[in-house]
Amino acid sequence: MALRAALPDVAFCTGEANSAMPAPTCASCHTARANLRRPRSGQALCGTCFCNAFEAEVLHTVLAGRLLPRGAVVAVGASGGKDSTVLAHVLRALAPQLDISLHLVAVDEGIGGYRDAALAAVRHQAARWELPLTVVAYEDLFGGWTMDAVARSTAGSGRSRSCCTFCGVLRRRALEEGARLVGATHIVTGHNADDMAETVLMNFLRGDAGRLARGGGLGSPGEGGALPRCRPLQLASQKEVVLYAHFRRLHYFSEECVYAPEAFRGHARDLLKRLEAARPSAVLDLVHSAERLALAPTARPPRPGACSRCGALASRALCQACALLDGLNRGLPRLAIGKGRRELEEEAPRGRRSVPAADALTAF
Ligand SMILES: [Zn+2]
Ligand SMILES: [Zn+2]
Repeated sequence: MALRAALPDVAFCTGEANSAMPAPTCASCHTARANLRRPRSGQALCGTCFCNAFEAEVLHTVLAGRLLPRGAVVAVGASGGKDSTVLAHVLRALAPQLDISLHLVAVDEGIGGYRDAALAAVRHQAARWELPLTVVAYEDLFGGWTMDAVARSTAGSGRSRSCCTFCGVLRRRALEEGARLVGATHIVTGHNADDMAETVLMNFLRGDAGRLARGGGLGSPGEGGALPRCRPLQLASQKEVVLYAHFRRLHYFSEECVYAPEAFRGHARDLLKRLEAARPSAVLDLVHSAERLALAPTARPPRPGACSRCGALASRALCQACALLDGLNRGLPRLAIGKGRRELEEEAPRGRRSVPAADALTAF
């Protein structure tokens, strides 16, 4: 179960007797041998100094962005994967300084053969780190619907790519419910800089001004009665998240979900990898671009209203989660999925969503 991703190519091999080039000395402590070269700066560090620097940078992200006030009760969205594992571990180390308390919240989507193993990883972490854990299940929250049941009812297409998008909508809702259940004041998720850059790129390529307008900054302030959300690893690269997990000896679950990832995200990921090869700062530059983005007044989407059923932010009568569940419960999953898909991908109301992102920019 304790699977790990392969180490990035920036880690030095250690203990190799006939290594041609010995690793340099750590540029921070000047004592230990360096174990890695930081992807962005090229700085050679030992594992301990790297982990300390990584934690200090997350602390800076949280403090500079005023993401978590003192006394906050923080629900950590825990999936058992590398990002949320690293996030929980770093915040646990920083909790005394930040004066926050942590509660792990895991979502059981009801995906046979995948979720059980991932949840076992979360349970192991909670026990090892003595953090409270609450598991909320789609089945309980959504009137008996598991993700497998949703997939079965979607036009016989099996584990189709659109499942990933719907699951994202439901997971967001489930995490919100779980966080409320444990009395949390804030929600944190493990999204790293690479995830953020992919999302920004996708929104640009789709010309989704509405999402670009909401996607900047280090989180959402909790509009429409939702709990404030933030992403403390938003400026940390995927490579460094893997390196941190390696040097802190964190065990996580690293299998891909059985449902194919959203197709378009895969294209954005490939494109980003090529951009990064030519310009190592491309990922972070994109994240910062989204933060600084300002939309012209005419391009700004209208302020969303409240879902008539649950009160969450919605650009139509029902929010995405309620619209999806409504279709499923009425026995019209195909209709719900077909209509839902368009709404999910192009959330801004008609007439506005055709504004190309580039036209909407006034400053960068
Ligand atoms: Zn060192
Ligand atoms: Zn709703």
